[in-house]
Amino acid sequence: MHIIPAKDISEASAPSRFVGGADFASRHSSLERRLVRLRSWLPWVHVGMFLVFLAVLVVPVYLPESSEQATFLDDGRELANYLLWGVWFPLMFFSVVITGRSWCGFLCPMGAASELANRHGLKRQTPAWIRWPGTPILSFIIITLLGQTTGARDHPEAALEIFGGTFVMAVIVGWLWGRNKRVWCRHLCPIGLLLGVFARLGAVHLSPRKRKSGPDQLTDKTICPTYIDLPRKQAARHCIECLRCILPGHTAGLAVSFRRPGQELEAIRHHAPDVWETLFIFLGAGVALGGFLWLVLPFYNDWRQALGRWFIEQGQYWIGEPGPAWLMSVHPERREVFRWLDFFMITGTMVTVMALSALVLSMASLASAGLARWRGSGESLFQAFVQIGYSQAPVALMALMIGLATELFTPFVRLGMTTAQVNDVKAAMILFGLLWSVWLAWRILQGLGVDRGRWLALLPSAAGSSAMAAAWWLAVL
Ligand code: SF4
Ligand code: SF4
Repeated sequence: MHIIPAKDISEASAPSRFVGGADFASRHSSLERRLVRLRSWLPWVHVGMFLVFLAVLVVPVYLPESSEQATFLDDGRELANYLLWGVWFPLMFFSVVITGRSWCGFLCPMGAASELANRHGLKRQTPAWIRWPGTPILSFIIITLLGQTTGARDHPEAALEIFGGTFVMAVIVGWLWGRNKRVWCRHLCPIGLLLGVFARLGAVHLSPRKRKSGPDQLTDKTICPTYIDLPRKQAARHCIECLRCILPGHTAGLAVSFRRPGQELEAIRHHAPDVWETLFIFLGAGVALGGFLWLVLPFYNDWRQALGRWFIEQGQYWIGEPGPAWLMSVHPERREVFRWLDFFMITGTMVTVMALSALVLSMASLASAGLARWRGSGESLFQAFVQIGYSQAPVALMALMIGLATELFTPFVRLGMTTAQVNDVKAAMILFGLLWSVWLAWRILQGLGVDRGRWLALLPSAAGSSAMAAAWWLAVL
């Protein structure tokens, strides 16, 4: 038993070169057996994680206000905030680059609860609007905007609203739609697509032992909870690593293998490239960037005042009123009250930065795609554009890791790291993401058949990555 690449698998989708030899095969088989044994423990892990979820999100809401000097070592609220943004999010991002979506399959209580609800639910057919490929993009954008206007990183009530609300939605969706599946995880989870795209960078890989020809498409006729047509699986995106399809000693099912991080994206032409994913990388990185830029843009306050004045001149005084607490941060006890003006300014800035990001990265990818074709690639302009667009994933990943995992560096600061040193680490992470993106674009262009003049075709894409890195640098440093 071992991973036997079928003849029609490209060199890129074949198991990594680290795999080889009888010794490795037997160790590998024993790894699969161990993983399969783990399966019976997963429900208990999910219950444990659900309790952690409750402790981190619900308990802080009922704790007394933290003092200005409170730290995560002596204050329950600060500790919960640190566990959420300093442990949970960074671990999820780091793990996806190493093990793919193991977070989803092994730990996430939300997906597990959705699947449990599905088992006892109505099992209705999934509506077309849920299956629309743009739905997970909208889900990410809406939650990112809401997280920003309610202040989910600073206020436990907002964190409970965002995470608790999505938890309830996941259960309702699971109860209503799908038959023994995870409709929520495949189509609706706000971070499902984010994890899916970055899982393509991951080093752990599950591939069919016996591959059948044909495209990697959604199917109902599968044991996979995320609708993967197992013998035709080409992409890591939808695999939540639930381990259900791993059958050690059999010739069917999927086999676990290891590969260099980024290998799937380097050969993306063989791994079901999808324009919606490219679009998500462009838009997702932009909207998250906007969430940090509005705090540092020097002209933000001038624009805010000008807009407020204009509304007042029109007699629209409601613009200065606070909105509902479920929509924006209204915490007078913490000296933070957003008004409708703030709501429109913050969401407007984020949406504008998102549109600009999509425009800049699209133009950069399109220019590289055009040059690739000019320098000999036989791929269509659209396909080349989609594939080159994936090269922005690493820089976006590093930036999101620094941005969303805001508390990542808190313990290091407590251990004596200075702000300048923390900023150096952040800068190094952004630089690493940028270099990885440029390398990825280089390899994708190679895959597109561009040999002579590859540097030229690389330039626009590298300029796009540099623009993204520079904007994040400005936002988080
Ligand atoms: S897709 Fe979302 S809800 Fe589903 S397991 Fe992953 S993180 Fe959890
Ligand atoms: S491909 Fe296998 S491990 Fe991945 S989600 Fe489907 S059944 Fe689970």
